[in-house]
Amino acid sequence: MNELSVPRPNSLDAFWMPFSDNKYFKGTPRMLARAEGMHYYTPEGREILDGTAGLWCCNAGHGRVEIVQAIQKQAAIMDFAPTFQLGHPIAFEAASRIAEITPEGVDRVFFTNSGSESADTALKIALAYHKARGESSRVRLIGRERGYHGVGFGGMSVGGIGPNRKQFGALLPYVDHLPHTHLPAKNAFAKGEPQHGAELADALENLVALHGAETIAAVMVEPVAGSTGVLVPPVGYLKRLRELCDKHGILLIFDEVITGFGRLGTNFGAERLGVTPDIMTMAKGLTNAAVPMGAVAVKNGVYDTIVNGMPAGIEFFHGYTYSGHPLAAAAAIATLELHKTEDLPGRARAMEPYWEDAMHSLKSAPNVIDIRNFGLIGGIELSSRPGKPGARAMDVFRRCFDKGVLVRVTADIVALSPPLIVENAHVDRLVGTLDEAIRAEAA
Ligand code: PMP
Repeated sequence: MNELSVPRPNSLDAFWMPFSDNKYFKGTPRMLARAEGMHYYTPEGREILDGTAGLWCCNAGHGRVEIVQAIQKQAAIMDFAPTFQLGHPIAFEAASRIAEITPEGVDRVFFTNSGSESADTALKIALAYHKARGESSRVRLIGRERGYHGVGFGGMSVGGIGPNRKQFGALLPYVDHLPHTHLPAKNAFAKGEPQHGAELADALENLVALHGAETIAAVMVEPVAGSTGVLVPPVGYLKRLRELCDKHGILLIFDEVITGFGRLGTNFGAERLGVTPDIMTMAKGLTNAAVPMGAVAVKNGVYDTIVNGMPAGIEFFHGYTYSGHPLAAAAAIATLELHKTEDLPGRARAMEPYWEDAMHSLKSAPNVIDIRNFGLIGGIELSSRPGKPGARAMDVFRRCFDKGVLVRVTADIVALSPPLIVENAHVDRLVGTLDEAIRAEAA
């Protein structure tokens, strides 16, 4: 394939782009047309090093022929099968392959098409579980400030990002939030898990005291908050949250949409952090993002309770036309095969010390006020320009792109998550370019 075979749009008007400043983009479009390995290519053929694995998702690198062929093969065998009271073998196979790498006992898998759908599905499973056990008073859902769980009404309500919520009215009732775990005064420039802040989990006790444990269904957190700027959990924090949930009969949900599939050097964040949730969401890396797919894995007891605890008929009234879609299932199986044969978690683990040093080498660049890292995730926080939050990091994004490197920015934080096949030379180029882009302002 060469650049000439990439079709050019006649007009940019019709496509209302998600998560984008449409007016700005359409004035100065930046397009990606092709991807291979560690790189994207623009329609003009310019090579862009992918510092973000697409959007935290292409963990095995781009254009993997094994995944492409699996999708092509499945498309020719069976394009689609309805999901009501019918199954198809490849979805069962994909679920079993996922269950092979989830924490022990978290082995029942419900398919969705995205992280947002996974978040809403997980919340509905939690509510259905308590209902099936006869504890219908447990309807309260608890998230965390600076949590991101997608854009459905459930995930958005439990998520804790002001700007995500304020356009959309009152959202779900009976939702509370734990404090976020970002403590810059104590933990700035911490490497890996920060030392301070485990006690922030105790805020759950306050909510229990306020509302009564018998009203609380679930707590949902990301093991590492990604989209709000890489917030790594303080040592012991998640264990404490687990203990409190157990004490009060509250389900613990991990949103592993970013932290799953090797990103933290283990299959899931749960493994790296030594805490097993009752329910975990996933998406992104599940299919290497080649076909949209998400999933929710639950403890066997949660599944059994719902499946056996509801009257005959449809026991959990939830699902999507495309749950377990054959093409996505094929992509997931091929991806999980690469995950295993190429030991992607092991590669991430082996690269982590180099990655950590590279991230922290940016400490001396101007306006850098914090650096955070864990697994193959990095966050470089810049001070904001007075009255212009986000503008400084946005400039860094543009400069990097112009120099052939893709980074992601959120507020004034540069968030990095390269494909797990990244090599030292890629890390050097990524960090070198970022360093130049940050220094360009002061020059
Ligand atoms: N949860 C988390 C932790 C995420 O990072 C994201 C996406 N960045 C989502 C949910 C939503 O996923 P999607 O965009 O696939 O709906």
